[in-house]
Amino acid sequence: MLKVQNLHKHFGGVKAVKDCSFEVKPHLITALIGPNGAGKSTVFNLISGILKPESGKIIFNNIDITNLSVERISNLGISRLFQQSRLFNNLTVKENLLLALDNEDTKFWKNLAGLNPITQEKETKIKKMLKLVAMESFENNLARDLSYGQKRLIELGRTILNPHILLMLDEPVAGVNPKLRENIAKILVGFKDEGKTILLIEHDMSFTLKIADIVIVMDEGRVIAEGKPEEIKNNPQVL
Ligand code: ADP
Ligand code: MG
Repeated sequence: MLKVQNLHKHFGGVKAVKDCSFEVKPHLITALIGPNGAGKSTVFNLISGILKPESGKIIFNNIDITNLSVERISNLGISRLFQQSRLFNNLTVKENLLLALDNEDTKFWKNLAGLNPITQEKETKIKKMLKLVAMESFENNLARDLSYGQKRLIELGRTILNPHILLMLDEPVAGVNPKLRENIAKILVGFKDEGKTILLIEHDMSFTLKIADIVIVMDEGRVIAEGKPEEIKNNPQVL
């Protein structure tokens, strides 16, 4: 589904990504792991088009997306959860989700001003998503009043409001309490069972090894190992 081929990206003197290649197979959970600074988030930024590589290629469903815009890439079905929260604190959960549905800003502000009616279709989508992440009762709460873990749940839901074939999640459970971690694990496995493809960056090894089908290990900008969780757990180089 996704092929990353010989990617290079540097920031001044820092070689963040060096000759990085891997493949993401459809309908599986693939985890990208590795120490801080290994280049994982940079790879995500390259795939989603936020950054452009100096060399290398990214192929998504046989389309070369290496030099496409963020918007084009997102319209092809790559949806992304960021490492840092991107919710607007002063808006309600529902307003934040409307923003995800109306990615043209002007349309959104018109919605808030009541100039654009919120359609039944949008209401239904948002309700369905909130149910999925068990956050129905928080619809009218301000984002600022949610716990960190609850924000992550809303953001996770938001990734599937957009067109999506591949979900890319950057540290979905970092800073989230164990009970909500458990919920997120279930939601992700549920996504997979529905046929979605997930590419996940995560530091929590027990979480990752439990839900991932394939684990790719990065260090210093490149892939150093790849395999099933059992294989990775016993790989001396990885340890
Ligand atoms: P990871 O997500 O694996 O922790 P990153 O991809 O965030 O790693 O970072 C890889 C390296 O690139 C780090 O040394 C980091 O400091 C550097 N880096 C990442 N983004 C930038 C940037 N925008 N400008 C300068 N250096 C960056
Ligand atoms: Mg990172």
